[in-house]
Amino acid sequence: MPANKKEIAIIGNGCAAAECIKALRENGYNGEIHIFTDSRWPIYNPMLTTYYVSGKIDFDQLFPYGKEQFYKKYNVHLHPGSPVVELDHDKRMVVNSNGLKLNYDQCLIASGASPFLPPIEGIDSSRVYTMRNVDDAVRLKETLREKPRKAIVIGASMIGIKIAELFYQQGLEVCLADLAKHIFPLAAHPECARVIEKRLIEKGIKLRLGAAIKKIVETEQGIEAYFKNSSENEKADLLVICIGVRANISFVDQEKVEVKQGILIDNQMRTNLPGLYAAGDVAQGRNILSGEHEIIGLWANARYQGRTAGRNMAGKKETFPGNIPHNITHFMGMDFIGIGDIYHYDKTEKKYDNKTFIQLFWKDRLLSGANFLDTYTKAGALKYALANRSITSTKDCSYPLPVIHDMLIREILTEVKQRERYSASAQKQNSCS
Ligand SMILES: Cc1cc2nc3c(=O)[nH]c(=O)nc-3n(C[C@H](O)[C@H](O)[C@H](O)COP(=O)(O)OP(=O)(O)OC[C@H]3O[C@@H](n4cnc5c(N)ncnc54)[C@H](O)[C@@H]3O)c2cc1C
Repeated sequence: MPANKKEIAIIGNGCAAAECIKALRENGYNGEIHIFTDSRWPIYNPMLTTYYVSGKIDFDQLFPYGKEQFYKKYNVHLHPGSPVVELDHDKRMVVNSNGLKLNYDQCLIASGASPFLPPIEGIDSSRVYTMRNVDDAVRLKETLREKPRKAIVIGASMIGIKIAELFYQQGLEVCLADLAKHIFPLAAHPECARVIEKRLIEKGIKLRLGAAIKKIVETEQGIEAYFKNSSENEKADLLVICIGVRANISFVDQEKVEVKQGILIDNQMRTNLPGLYAAGDVAQGRNILSGEHEIIGLWANARYQGRTAGRNMAGKKETFPGNIPHNITHFMGMDFIGIGDIYHYDKTEKKYDNKTFIQLFWKDRLLSGANFLDTYTKAGALKYALANRSITSTKDCSYPLPVIHDMLIREILTEVKQRERYSASAQKQNSCS
């Protein structure tokens, strides 16, 4: 290898990796790029797995970046089907399970996250499923061909509800259970959650909330789930676990790389070690609202982080200030939007007309979170306002709170003003350069 030849290693093959590759090439990096992935598939979108299982999209639509042509176009060496098992950043070396070793100059960790499986009896049953990757989707789709009649979904989260919806639409009887006392425990305030729960029950979904699974037993007929503090077990043909994910960091030396739940990164996606970057669901970037570092497991967030890492690795100076937790989901004829922090507030205001539900939350005189059900009204403006902390004075947000309608109007005006300011400064920068 010529002494001046540059090597970049990318661990993982998701959207964070893809955006990093694009940014590297688009910003003038012309050295080698190696992708290491445990998957045999090209870059897929985990969000679309339930749509593939339900038949709403074809198999090929799981791959938004295309297939082999992506790696050809960006001149990438792909090492598929073999997970990285060791990362020695002192030696700048990555090793995969096939024993392939690569010395690199810079490395991006973009290995995403995997479903968390609770350590309970019966969790390894062949009737237990998870949903994250292409193989999970293929497996569940095959099972549905056998026409099961009833399914249990553990985890009333954003993923759990999509799985429940999928089964409901396929005509299965569904039981949705969660340790939490209400649905969408991280994104919905209990008041909004109650409205959603009522509608789900009306559709025939059985809800078991405040129910912690303790054991799974495989029987000749199917599967039985047992819950703590309950004598009522649940019988079904299959069970899907969706109780959260864990960052894929088994190959990371945590004595050297700073890790909490994920790998800690700054606003340039740098870890604490020079030349080592992280992006996507494996990384803990900044939550703009709280100022804390946390994993914000969202597709767009992973893409922004991957792109920012790529530009910096190509020698540009690029920052991504962080994100705010937000969930936007359509399920069973409902649209739910949860933005920001809906737990730590000192004022809240709610509007419910039996059809649409809006609830806003304020903390320290700043808008801090919002729930919307069946209305998109100004949700985008609110998210923008939240991310930009645009209500910054008591003058802008005086107590007692203004009515929601006035508030939304103010938000939009604020957003417009900010966008104007931003485009004016961008224009100024362009004319200077
Ligand atoms: C069912 C479902 C629904 C979702 N819905 C939404 C939604 O509505 N909106 C939204 O914004 N987000 C949603 N998400 C989350 C979103 O898909 C993720 O935030 C995003 O895909 C993260 O991208 P990533 O590149 O960080 O990780 P991933 O897409 O997980 O890619 C990481 C890759 O690294 C590989 N890998 C792992 N370990 C290793 C290793 N040791 N060596 C080599 N390779 C490794 C993995 O196999 C994987 O291919 C959903 C996810 C799921 C599963």
